[in-house]
Amino acid sequence: MPVSTFMALCLSHPAYGYYMTRDPLGAAGDFTTAPEISGMFGEMLGGLIVHAWEQAGSPDRFTLLECGPGRGTLMTDLLRLAKRRPGFIEAMELVLLETSPVLRESQATLLSHVPHRHIGSLADLPDNGPLFVVANEFFDALPVSQYVRHKGKWFERVVGLENDALTFGLIPTEPRYEPRDFVETSELTQQIWGGLCAELERRGGMAVVVDYGYSHPGKGGDTLQAVQNHASVDPLESPGEADLTAHVDFFQLAQDAGQLGLTVSKIIPQGVFLKTLGIDERCAQMIGAYPANTSKYKSELVRLTAPDQMGELFKVLVVTSMLDLDLPGI
Ligand code: SAH
Repeated sequence: MPVSTFMALCLSHPAYGYYMTRDPLGAAGDFTTAPEISGMFGEMLGGLIVHAWEQAGSPDRFTLLECGPGRGTLMTDLLRLAKRRPGFIEAMELVLLETSPVLRESQATLLSHVPHRHIGSLADLPDNGPLFVVANEFFDALPVSQYVRHKGKWFERVVGLENDALTFGLIPTEPRYEPRDFVETSELTQQIWGGLCAELERRGGMAVVVDYGYSHPGKGGDTLQAVQNHASVDPLESPGEADLTAHVDFFQLAQDAGQLGLTVSKIIPQGVFLKTLGIDERCAQMIGAYPANTSKYKSELVRLTAPDQMGELFKVLVVTSMLDLDLPGI
């Protein structure tokens, strides 16, 4: 089967899929994410979303969509900040795009104080005013296809059985017109991102994507990776038991959004992005309010922003229909 089918089955098979059967996050799980590290992450995104909503004229109806909300932590932190703005919560229709029944349950618990609803695909997105979207570590979980050129001929990378063990192989495929010999693409990312950008263009709004990935075309190569118990493992070793991801092609996301007519930010390192939004000031404020937690807040700040932690590897892309959305430094 193609690598994309393998990845889709490993992650989303109804009975055995990785995300269908567990909460993978946190110390007891397989990996951790920015919102699970610090509440300041979601607060910064909340500030940005509120700013965009105000720039749009504080509409009294709008849709807030989170793609792949994990435990619901990011949205909880985002709303804690956003609810300080009169009218924001009352105007909001909150929608969560989530496939995992386990994570849907934790989101429902954490967000029980605010009306929200789950959707399984963008076809069910409500058409309620402008659209604001956040997606943290969502697109890296979507299946990728891999294509290889060998001696002038193109092959698709597949997963099959050899002597009862899973192994990678190649099958001939249609010729592709590419300058490089290895291509990784995600049809599902293109479909979801294309759909979101078309909605932003039609209804107005903004999307913020945070993930690890590359900013230049052709930088990727084979980025399929598996993580279990916070360590790298062979992607074929334990199907459905390890998290499979691939790097996000931010260059492609930016290009697609631009082609659909949206205003596109630079591809910004997470550290720069969070500092531009004021995370240093927020951290100082928290330390002032709870001095006993000084070292905790400082180490959270370092993990999120330092170049040798998440600050450089993680990238941010902001796209918007609002030409005058004023984002200093972004
Ligand atoms: N944003 C969260 C979780 C990241 S893990 C955080 O930062 O902590 C990836 C999330 O995307 C999980 O919630 C997972 O269940 C969800 N997900 C993965 N594939 C999906 C798909 N095809 N459709 C909808 N949600 C998906």
